[in-house]
Amino acid sequence: MLDELRSQVLEANLEIVRHGLVLYTFGNVSGIDRQAGLVAIKPSGVSYEIMTPEDMVITDLNGKIVEGSLRPSSDLGTHLLLYREFPSIGAVVHTHSEYATAWAQAGRSIPAYGTTHADYFYGPVPVTDELSAADINGDYVHNTGLAIIRRFHNIDPDAMPAVLVAGHAPFCWGKTASDAAHNAVVLEAVARMAFFTATLNPDQQGISQTLLDRHYFRKHGTNATYGQQRGNHL
Ligand SMILES: [Zn+2]
Repeated sequence: MLDELRSQVLEANLEIVRHGLVLYTFGNVSGIDRQAGLVAIKPSGVSYEIMTPEDMVITDLNGKIVEGSLRPSSDLGTHLLLYREFPSIGAVVHTHSEYATAWAQAGRSIPAYGTTHADYFYGPVPVTDELSAADINGDYVHNTGLAIIRRFHNIDPDAMPAVLVAGHAPFCWGKTASDAAHNAVVLEAVARMAFFTATLNPDQQGISQTLLDRHYFRKHGTNATYGQQRGNHL
């Protein structure tokens, strides 16, 4: 079942390992087949070296296992809430990548300091509020998702494919598993550069709205001109 999606999700899991975003088995990627209403997610605690497409666990949007003998990633509940609340996304990536996690632990959103950031993230990468004791003692994984949804009240998830969960780490998303993994890798690079920028110049407020717009809309939206997909513009 969902062979193509399983392979894409496995490949994205390996991609974030190749880029140094994952220690041991900390990260997880899932992807969704919107027509089937089914999610493929990395199994919990299985070493990446031996992971196969068959190991991916298939669940419905309520977390009921439809196919698979392994337990799904323990972060499944957060992934599922994001799929239910953000209907345009096709995949979710969670890592504890070092620099993005440092910003999450500091409780700071990542300012848009430069054009690398602006090419991918339309504005500061937001950080959630801290979870309350009741949130943590209750359905913690689901409540982590709720903290993200609350933070995105006025933010378009298509224009901001990443969030920092306060005291925890980033979640990223995209149209496909490969796309979401790509965003997670770029987020880590942007977080690293932002750390150096803030260190070198604590007064830096970020790039202008004009430069942010110039770079973001070069790659996104109906007037995008970057890359080969609209060859008549190049
Ligand atoms: Zn985590």
